[in-house]
Amino acid sequence: MDQYISLEELASKADLLVATINQESLTPKERRAIPLQEMPTQDPQVRRSNMEEVALGYTENQAKLEAMRCLQCKNAPCIQGCPVAINIPAFIDAAAKGDFKKSIGIIKESSSLPAICGRVCPQESQCMATCTVGKAEKDVMRSVQIGRIERYVADWERENNEVQIPEVAPETGKKVAIVGSGPSGLSAAFDLRKAGHDVTVYEAFHKNGGVTVYGIPEFRLPKAIVEVEIDTLVNMGVKIVTNFMVGKTRKLKDLLDKDGFNAVYIAAGAGLPKFMGIEGENLVGVFSANEYLTRSNLMKAYDFGKAKTPIYKSNKVAVFGGGNVAMDAARTAKRIGAEEVHIIYRRTEKEMPARVEEVHHAKEEGIIFDYLTNPVRILANENGRVNAIECLKYELGEPDDSGRRRPVPIKGSEFLIEVDACIPSLGNNANPVLSNTTPDLEINKWGNIIADETGKTSIEKIYAGGDIVLGAATVILAMGQGRNAAASINKMLGE
Ligand code: FAD
Ligand code: SF4
Ligand code: SF4
Repeated sequence: MDQYISLEELASKADLLVATINQESLTPKERRAIPLQEMPTQDPQVRRSNMEEVALGYTENQAKLEAMRCLQCKNAPCIQGCPVAINIPAFIDAAAKGDFKKSIGIIKESSSLPAICGRVCPQESQCMATCTVGKAEKDVMRSVQIGRIERYVADWERENNEVQIPEVAPETGKKVAIVGSGPSGLSAAFDLRKAGHDVTVYEAFHKNGGVTVYGIPEFRLPKAIVEVEIDTLVNMGVKIVTNFMVGKTRKLKDLLDKDGFNAVYIAAGAGLPKFMGIEGENLVGVFSANEYLTRSNLMKAYDFGKAKTPIYKSNKVAVFGGGNVAMDAARTAKRIGAEEVHIIYRRTEKEMPARVEEVHHAKEEGIIFDYLTNPVRILANENGRVNAIECLKYELGEPDDSGRRRPVPIKGSEFLIEVDACIPSLGNNANPVLSNTTPDLEINKWGNIIADETGKTSIEKIYAGGDIVLGAATVILAMGQGRNAAASINKMLGE
């Protein structure tokens, strides 16, 4: 594991280097010689018992230096890797020159939530995956750190009170309803309101933001950042109604037939947790990652003595799964006070879907990774409380449909791990509330709403996108779908 380097050390190295560089006349060779700027973080020994953000963000000189590593490729392959096609070389060039206002302006032409995406985008499989620098160095993690620069300029804008309320076109007199206030609903609301429509977002929870607020923990994405984005929408004139579950509080089609909306965009996400279906999953001490994280993030249950919602305190926790949700659950359990936290994953680290940075941070915080291992049943004491899991050892066989090598159980390899809580973190399916209460709304076999490439569903004037269509995906893909559907709705309302 890499040695921890403090913010002060990283900052002073960057300050010294910047003073020796003339950014105007850098040759490609000189750009390639600039060292990759590491992200300063809180010390792992300190942060594992607090909820504050782990990654502290670049200093100004670090952001400039990292931006200078960009070769300004003419064909800009990085743009194809970004689901919303941000003009990456242009925003990076402005950042390298210290013109952060111009830089954020370029990003905002394509993305309304850069401070969020710069933090949580799986960059190594998106924009960084196609970067020329990473390709030349045969290591994607050595690509230009595009998301980190994006985060810097978005934070610069917020911290310097430079956030501008975008101009809204004259009122069109058309009304659009949006179901769900996650990244997909919010980005659609942004584009639709900009076009001058009367936009109302309906949210089932008491807080807005979707998974960015109830799922992704504070230590990865501070909620204050999401709030600023939502404030911008409200200032543009978007109405937001919380504690309103479309399908229950009001039928979906009533929004069109009785409430005078001209179009609806469904961005209800994938909020139904998956379970393994093994013996013991209903014991006391077993929680879906959704429940565990929602209690901690949305209801601040970690604030013992103050929060209205309790959270199960445990010493030894097993988290099942290898994605971002599993990393978040494990690192939250550690912060809530567990001494030993295991990630139980059937494959190896190489196949793990979680972001590389999150796995690295989890390891630094002392999370134990049990690879090629899978739970087969959960055991309890005489009071019905979890006290152990029985696991099987696995080996890797031939690749499956996903291209990853299939895990094969090793006969007779059963063994026990003593734990007092389990958190299955296997991802989510679509919540069936809307499809159960809207008979004509077509869904696929997994319960996801079927929408065409314009976002249109089987019902006239109703569009859908984000996780409710894609299955559990990513913030930026959900945003991209929101923008795409907004463009289709704008077109329909203009006809
Ligand atoms: P959501 O964010 O799920 O928002 C949907 C909203 O709709 C919710 O607020 C919900 O309450 C509301 N809603 C649902 N039904 C109704 C209804 N009937 N009426 C009114 N409101 C309703 N992605 C990344 O890119 N990077 C990450 O690091 C990452 N980490 C993740 C960690 C966790 C723990 C989880 C669960 C997901 C993570 N993701 C990550 C995935 C990402 O958050 C989602 O892909 C994204 O939030 C989907 O956006 P969305 O707008 O489609 O849905
Ligand atoms: Fe810069 Fe990489 Fe994009 Fe080239 S591919 S323009 S080096 S970010
Ligand atoms: Fe990369 Fe995400 Fe930013 Fe696009 S939005 S440039 S994928 S970090």
